[in-house]
Amino acid sequence: MKYISTRGHAGQPTNPEFCDILLGGLAPDGGLYLPESYPCVTRAELDAWRTLPYAELAFEILSKFITDIPAADLRAICAKTYTAEVYCHARAGDRAADITPVHWLEPGRLGLLELSNGPTLAFKDMAMQLLGNLFEYVLAKRGESINILGATSGDTGSAAEYAMRGKQGVRVFMLSPHGKMSAFQRAQMYSLQDENIFNIAVTGMFDDAQDIVKAVSNDHAFKAGHKIGAVNSINWARVAAQVVYYFKGYFAATSSNDQEVAFCVPSGNFGNICAGHIARQMGLPVAKLLLATNENDVLDEFFRTGVYRPRKAAETHVTSSPSMDISKASNFERFVFDLVGRDPQKVAALWAEVDAGRAFDLSASAEFARIAEFGFLSGASSHADRLATIRKVFEQYGVMIDTHTADGVKVAWELAGAVPAGVPLLVLETALPVKFSETIVEALGREPERPADLAGIEALPQRVEVMAPDVDAIKRFITERVRG
Ligand SMILES: *Cc1c(COP(=O)(O)O)cnc(C)c1O
Repeated sequence: MKYISTRGHAGQPTNPEFCDILLGGLAPDGGLYLPESYPCVTRAELDAWRTLPYAELAFEILSKFITDIPAADLRAICAKTYTAEVYCHARAGDRAADITPVHWLEPGRLGLLELSNGPTLAFKDMAMQLLGNLFEYVLAKRGESINILGATSGDTGSAAEYAMRGKQGVRVFMLSPHGKMSAFQRAQMYSLQDENIFNIAVTGMFDDAQDIVKAVSNDHAFKAGHKIGAVNSINWARVAAQVVYYFKGYFAATSSNDQEVAFCVPSGNFGNICAGHIARQMGLPVAKLLLATNENDVLDEFFRTGVYRPRKAAETHVTSSPSMDISKASNFERFVFDLVGRDPQKVAALWAEVDAGRAFDLSASAEFARIAEFGFLSGASSHADRLATIRKVFEQYGVMIDTHTADGVKVAWELAGAVPAGVPLLVLETALPVKFSETIVEALGREPERPADLAGIEALPQRVEVMAPDVDAIKRFITERVRG
């Protein structure tokens, strides 16, 4: 499988394959990588895959996107990644061995697709754990190493650290805002004692940490000399890994491949639902993809009106579903590429506007007139909606959900009438409630349950360097660890 850029120039080599783009971020022209065409899944394949365990299903699907790793090796990587030991936080009564079990609220009609049973209790583990194993494999083959530099306000940083800990050839330098994360989030990250993980708490805000990452990455000599890489949400391998659980969810929610399913996806950077879009393009029978945002409704606005209007940082709301607090959706370009008939000139013209801080308007275009063919509908949720939804789900079903999943359930209820009768609707559960316990207490007056293996982690010794937001000091810190 060859990869192309949404803006037309994928760079050198001219037609990269999966391993060529695995360790990189954007394509050299600023676009995002996509397969040159989506592999189609036949009815015979769907029939054969229906009963496969998660790791084998992952191999079957990923081997369509990854043709430059020998099949036996890819199979072993999937088997090592998707185990019940790693994804061990399934709800009582659900099978951990299913990796992403469905927890029905209304049997056969409305369910939660559990994506948050990995080590950091958020769906990012689904892709990041695979990425860790792929990185280690490809770096060993090439005799190379990488130094991952990132900034986090929570979920992404911890998922990256748990995926990369102890991996040969990989070091992680993760910047976080000093004193701005919850005690639980700090404990999750800072208690890691692995020698290849470096936590740097920057005395500033998240934006200061992010600015340092940008400054270091823009120093091309330093970046090349120190083999600096990233694992952000535009990484194609992360999107590809996420395609798998849409198939798994479909098989769990239906009893035959004649049926359809609908998904509702709490969305921020459009990475998760982009994988759903790709699964549908591959031929998975998905009736509808419902996109849920919080108060940061840039995506909801687009699907309702055809106007994509990225917000300024100052216009971005700080909400109680913080992992969806985005001002522009970094993976959205992949969908728009498909929407405009995979025309890279059109995408480049639209993103010339976006990159200049302006909106684009497709409302009068022939492309937007056909948007229904892609199955998308959208809605938004507020803090009050989240509280009410968490309460209602707890009272009606005895199930505690996190704030992001609550945004999804709220929009699923609102749009359920647009899903054809008899089609099961799965809301993607993107985090467990214990990660956002403040809002759970606000909604329910009680603390969420904490998985037994995470009891008391706040008391563990922590390994973190507190540093001023000083680019040169942080470069020196990296240099000493890399050369050391
Ligand atoms: C990252 C994240 C999201 C948003 O996912 P995108 O792929 O950015 O759309 C939603 N919920 C949680 C808990 C997350 O960590």
